[in-house]
Amino acid sequence: MAVLGVSCSALRAQDGSGGRASAPAAPPVAGQPAVAVPQGAAGQEVNGRLGVAEREARQQQAELAAARHWGLAALPLKAPEAPAEKPELVAGPNVLLADGLPPVVRRVPTEDNVVFLTVDDGAAKDPEFAEMAAGLDVPLSVFLSDYLARSDYDYFRAMRDRGVSVNNHTVNHPDLRRLGADALRREICGQQDRLEQEIGTRPWLFRPPYGEYTAAALRTAASCGVTAVALWTEEAFPDHLEYRYSDEKLHPGDIILTHFRDPAPGWKGTMADMLRRVIDTATAEGFAIGRLEDYL
Ligand SMILES: [Zn+2]
Repeated sequence: MAVLGVSCSALRAQDGSGGRASAPAAPPVAGQPAVAVPQGAAGQEVNGRLGVAEREARQQQAELAAARHWGLAALPLKAPEAPAEKPELVAGPNVLLADGLPPVVRRVPTEDNVVFLTVDDGAAKDPEFAEMAAGLDVPLSVFLSDYLARSDYDYFRAMRDRGVSVNNHTVNHPDLRRLGADALRREICGQQDRLEQEIGTRPWLFRPPYGEYTAAALRTAASCGVTAVALWTEEAFPDHLEYRYSDEKLHPGDIILTHFRDPAPGWKGTMADMLRRVIDTATAEGFAIGRLEDYL
């Protein structure tokens, strides 16, 4: 039997997840999607509660149904359990360390087969994208600029409610290299305050607009609660990925950048198309999408 165009053996390999984390088992009965589930001993209720095998079967069916619904080529791989301790950051081509400043990280040092998806700015609030990411339980880290996000923080609060982390991308998206001390504080610490007000938690991750920053900008960020700066390795579009490395492949710990955008010239498709491309690419290359905040 082929499911979603992948063979049974491929599906079994994904199912035999061993110590890998899986989405929490679905609760008994309530909230179950109307999908067929295997019948038999495992399907019988014991004292009104579903057995473990039954719950797992239902969970798997729900994941398959979601993958089919959103047009994925194959079931996404499951991210491993979050590391007990965040990886130690060592200075190198992908990690910049300086005394007293938050580390600047382009790629997370890990051997886990995970990549991270980060979505910037906050201009388009596409309901289909939010629904798809939630339906497929994709971890996202969003980096918001207040001037774009403020027209509808409800959209991002709903994302937060399902576990998306909301991070700082300044108030007005300036080039930080051009700003003096007061303006840096308004842009970076001002957005820390805005997000704490609007989202309810103070971010610890910061992404400078255009990936451009100065030591003064990093010092300012550290002064108002930022503990790490996240840059990126790949950029995702609806119709392609731009790779950082000439091998044109994903690597463990790669951070993928994309944007909240509507279809436009240079952005040929929807955000759902973009997410489908990222997930299918990650799956085909053997990677799960993990949660950046578990690692950084
Ligand atoms: Zn930006």
